[in-house]
Amino acid sequence: MTFHLLSIFPQIFDSYLKEGMIKRAIDKKIIDIKSYDLRRWTKDKHRSVDDSPYGGGAGMLMKIEPIYQALEDIKKTKQKLNRGKKAVILLAANGKTWDQNLAKKYSKYQEIVFVCGRYEGVDARVEEFIDDKISIGNYVLTGGELPALVIIDSISRLLPGVLGNADSHKDESYSQTGVLEYPQYTKPEIFIAKRKKYSVPPVLLSGDHKKIKEWRENNKKIKK
Ligand code: SAM
Repeated sequence: MTFHLLSIFPQIFDSYLKEGMIKRAIDKKIIDIKSYDLRRWTKDKHRSVDDSPYGGGAGMLMKIEPIYQALEDIKKTKQKLNRGKKAVILLAANGKTWDQNLAKKYSKYQEIVFVCGRYEGVDARVEEFIDDKISIGNYVLTGGELPALVIIDSISRLLPGVLGNADSHKDESYSQTGVLEYPQYTKPEIFIAKRKKYSVPPVLLSGDHKKIKEWRENNKKIKK
């Protein structure tokens, strides 16, 4: 699966992609990540990607031309790469909220292009050239780079071969819509802090798998 990241700060992605499961997924060639500096598609000598909004208002907006041109060029590479499902996602605070069901849907795609906004956002006409507009939550960030990484991370861990244990995402929070994982514990059995004891629920030490399963089922929470 290939992720294309279009941004004016493409270096932001570097450190995250060099660690943990995502690095492992890249090394195992399960995912491929290509980042592009949007300024590559500017034509003026200042390489400007933004301008003031029509009608006035605070801040600057990202211009449509470099984004359109970049999408056209990336599309050409995409066609050469493979034939599976493809999508262009615009990151936007006023988009559809990302969740595990969307992560499952997009984990079936072969290529996703992310358009990362900055400033006060992008010229609304960009929406004519995308497939989905996604928000990662009801708050405003300074740019779409972190949201793009959040989405890549949540999709990648669903792909076969990425997690050490393939069952990890079958019984976890949101594997069933709205159902949250039960509490989990590891050694020591008793943790003491400021003379207070914090114990592991005895049933988890009992070795009785039927009872453990029951306890876990009863301790799942429903997200309201
Ligand atoms: N003026 C915009 C608004 O009121 O919705 C906010 C623009 S924000 C400062 C700049 C960029 O950050 C956006 O274009 C978008 O790409 C990204 N961004 C900010 N918050 C986001 C969120 N919750 N989810 C996804 N992207 C977000």
